[in-house]
Amino acid sequence: MRITIAGSGIAGLAAAVSLHAAGFHEVTVFEADPGLRPLGLGLNILPNAVRELAELGLLDAVQRRAIRTRELAMYTPRGTLVWREDRGLAAGYRWPQLSVSRARLVMALAAETRRRLGDGAVVTDARLVGLEHTPGRTRAVFESRDGSTRTVETDLLIGADGIHSAVRAALYPAEGPPPTNGVTMYRGTVWGRKFLTGESMAVLGDDQRRLVLYPIDRDETTGRTLINWVAAFPGQRSEARSTTDAAEKRKDILRHLGDWTPPEVDLAALIEGTPDIQRYPMIDRDPLPRWTFGGVTLLGDAAHAMYPAGSNGATQAVIDARVLAWQLARHSDAGAALRAYEEERRPQMTELQKSNRSLGPERVLTMAHRRAPGGFSDVRDVFSAEELAEISRGYAVTGKFDQDWVNTRPSLSVGGGR
Ligand SMILES: Cc1cc2nc3c(=O)[nH]c(=O)nc-3n(C[C@H](O)[C@H](O)[C@H](O)COP(=O)(O)OP(=O)(O)OC[C@H]3O[C@@H](n4cnc5c(N)ncnc54)[C@H](O)[C@@H]3O)c2cc1C
Repeated sequence: MRITIAGSGIAGLAAAVSLHAAGFHEVTVFEADPGLRPLGLGLNILPNAVRELAELGLLDAVQRRAIRTRELAMYTPRGTLVWREDRGLAAGYRWPQLSVSRARLVMALAAETRRRLGDGAVVTDARLVGLEHTPGRTRAVFESRDGSTRTVETDLLIGADGIHSAVRAALYPAEGPPPTNGVTMYRGTVWGRKFLTGESMAVLGDDQRRLVLYPIDRDETTGRTLINWVAAFPGQRSEARSTTDAAEKRKDILRHLGDWTPPEVDLAALIEGTPDIQRYPMIDRDPLPRWTFGGVTLLGDAAHAMYPAGSNGATQAVIDARVLAWQLARHSDAGAALRAYEEERRPQMTELQKSNRSLGPERVLTMAHRRAPGGFSDVRDVFSAEELAEISRGYAVTGKFDQDWVNTRPSLSVGGGR
């Protein structure tokens, strides 16, 4: 079976490795960028996806330069604790939660794709610009920067080309650009002193603004950590990935969050010390009624981009990849496999997309602010412990990353060649 993947992000590369592991050897990934550049800041991979990386033999490569996240702690802007919970191994999962640089994860997946499928399996400078699909026949056209094109006939085309997916646009030509909620995010990484446990994710917020901090690397000799931070607040700024003056970005952040006091972190020094600050609008996608049309399907952000709350973007892309490969290996009919993939994944991702529009588990911060806008000294005056625990547990069950499920569900690994 010839399988073509558009996009070499985490979804596309995880799909390539998973398909090879499931016995499919004619797999090619086409990437629009001219090279696999180490782009991106930090992201979190929840234990359900780390389990899949482990089963693909990638755990050592990925966690070599990652932090095993041990706790999630949520605070008011002034640093009063609202909620803390154990994460990963500390919470009893058999696999860790990893805070990792996106670039490292992409590079580890790309190396494994090439090791398994050969150097020619990842074609760069090849942007999908055309797609034709009729029953029994799928053709994709890829264009390079010099204007030359290449047409590929394939049995299956997987659109793993991210939130601005060309494959999705071909399937849903009237959809238009991703909607935004009017929030702007600033992001950066900077070396600094370890805070809290040194393996903590801290989230501060009120009813509109957020600050997220977690380490993604550690220098064992100096004890310093590479802190990944995200600041988000309402206000639209025109450009998607701005190159505007760093000083202006710093001013904007400190104007909105300058009086916030994250525990054990000097926020002003953190922002001032960050060499490169990126700015993005917060965007997602509406849930789709269908991902699969004949021999074409969607995966990762192309299928279900969601707001970045709850660490699910990359996590769910890995799960998509494994479920798709597993279903293709189980069914002799590709159409039945794609239906099974979509039946399993789409309803779950629709729920998660909706939940992330109210910022998933972080909505406790919104609730805390609304119930006690003037602040509080003891969270038990604002919430019962049961209420907070139920919000966290309910979100984990929605995303199928609760501990019972992750630790005990059957493996998605298959044997045999195809
Ligand atoms: C450059 C970049 C940096 C990011 N940084 C972060 C970060 O710091 N933190 C975070 O949490 N998330 C980040 N993300 C998003 C995060 O990686 C994704 O939400 C998640 O991993 C799901 O991945 P995906 O593979 O579905 O999509 P993506 O990661 O968006 O990957 C899609 C890939 O498809 C390629 N592509 C796009 N259009 C075409 C086309 N027409 N033809 C062929 N290829 C195409 C893109 O170049 C990209 O390599 C980043 C994404 C990108 C592209």
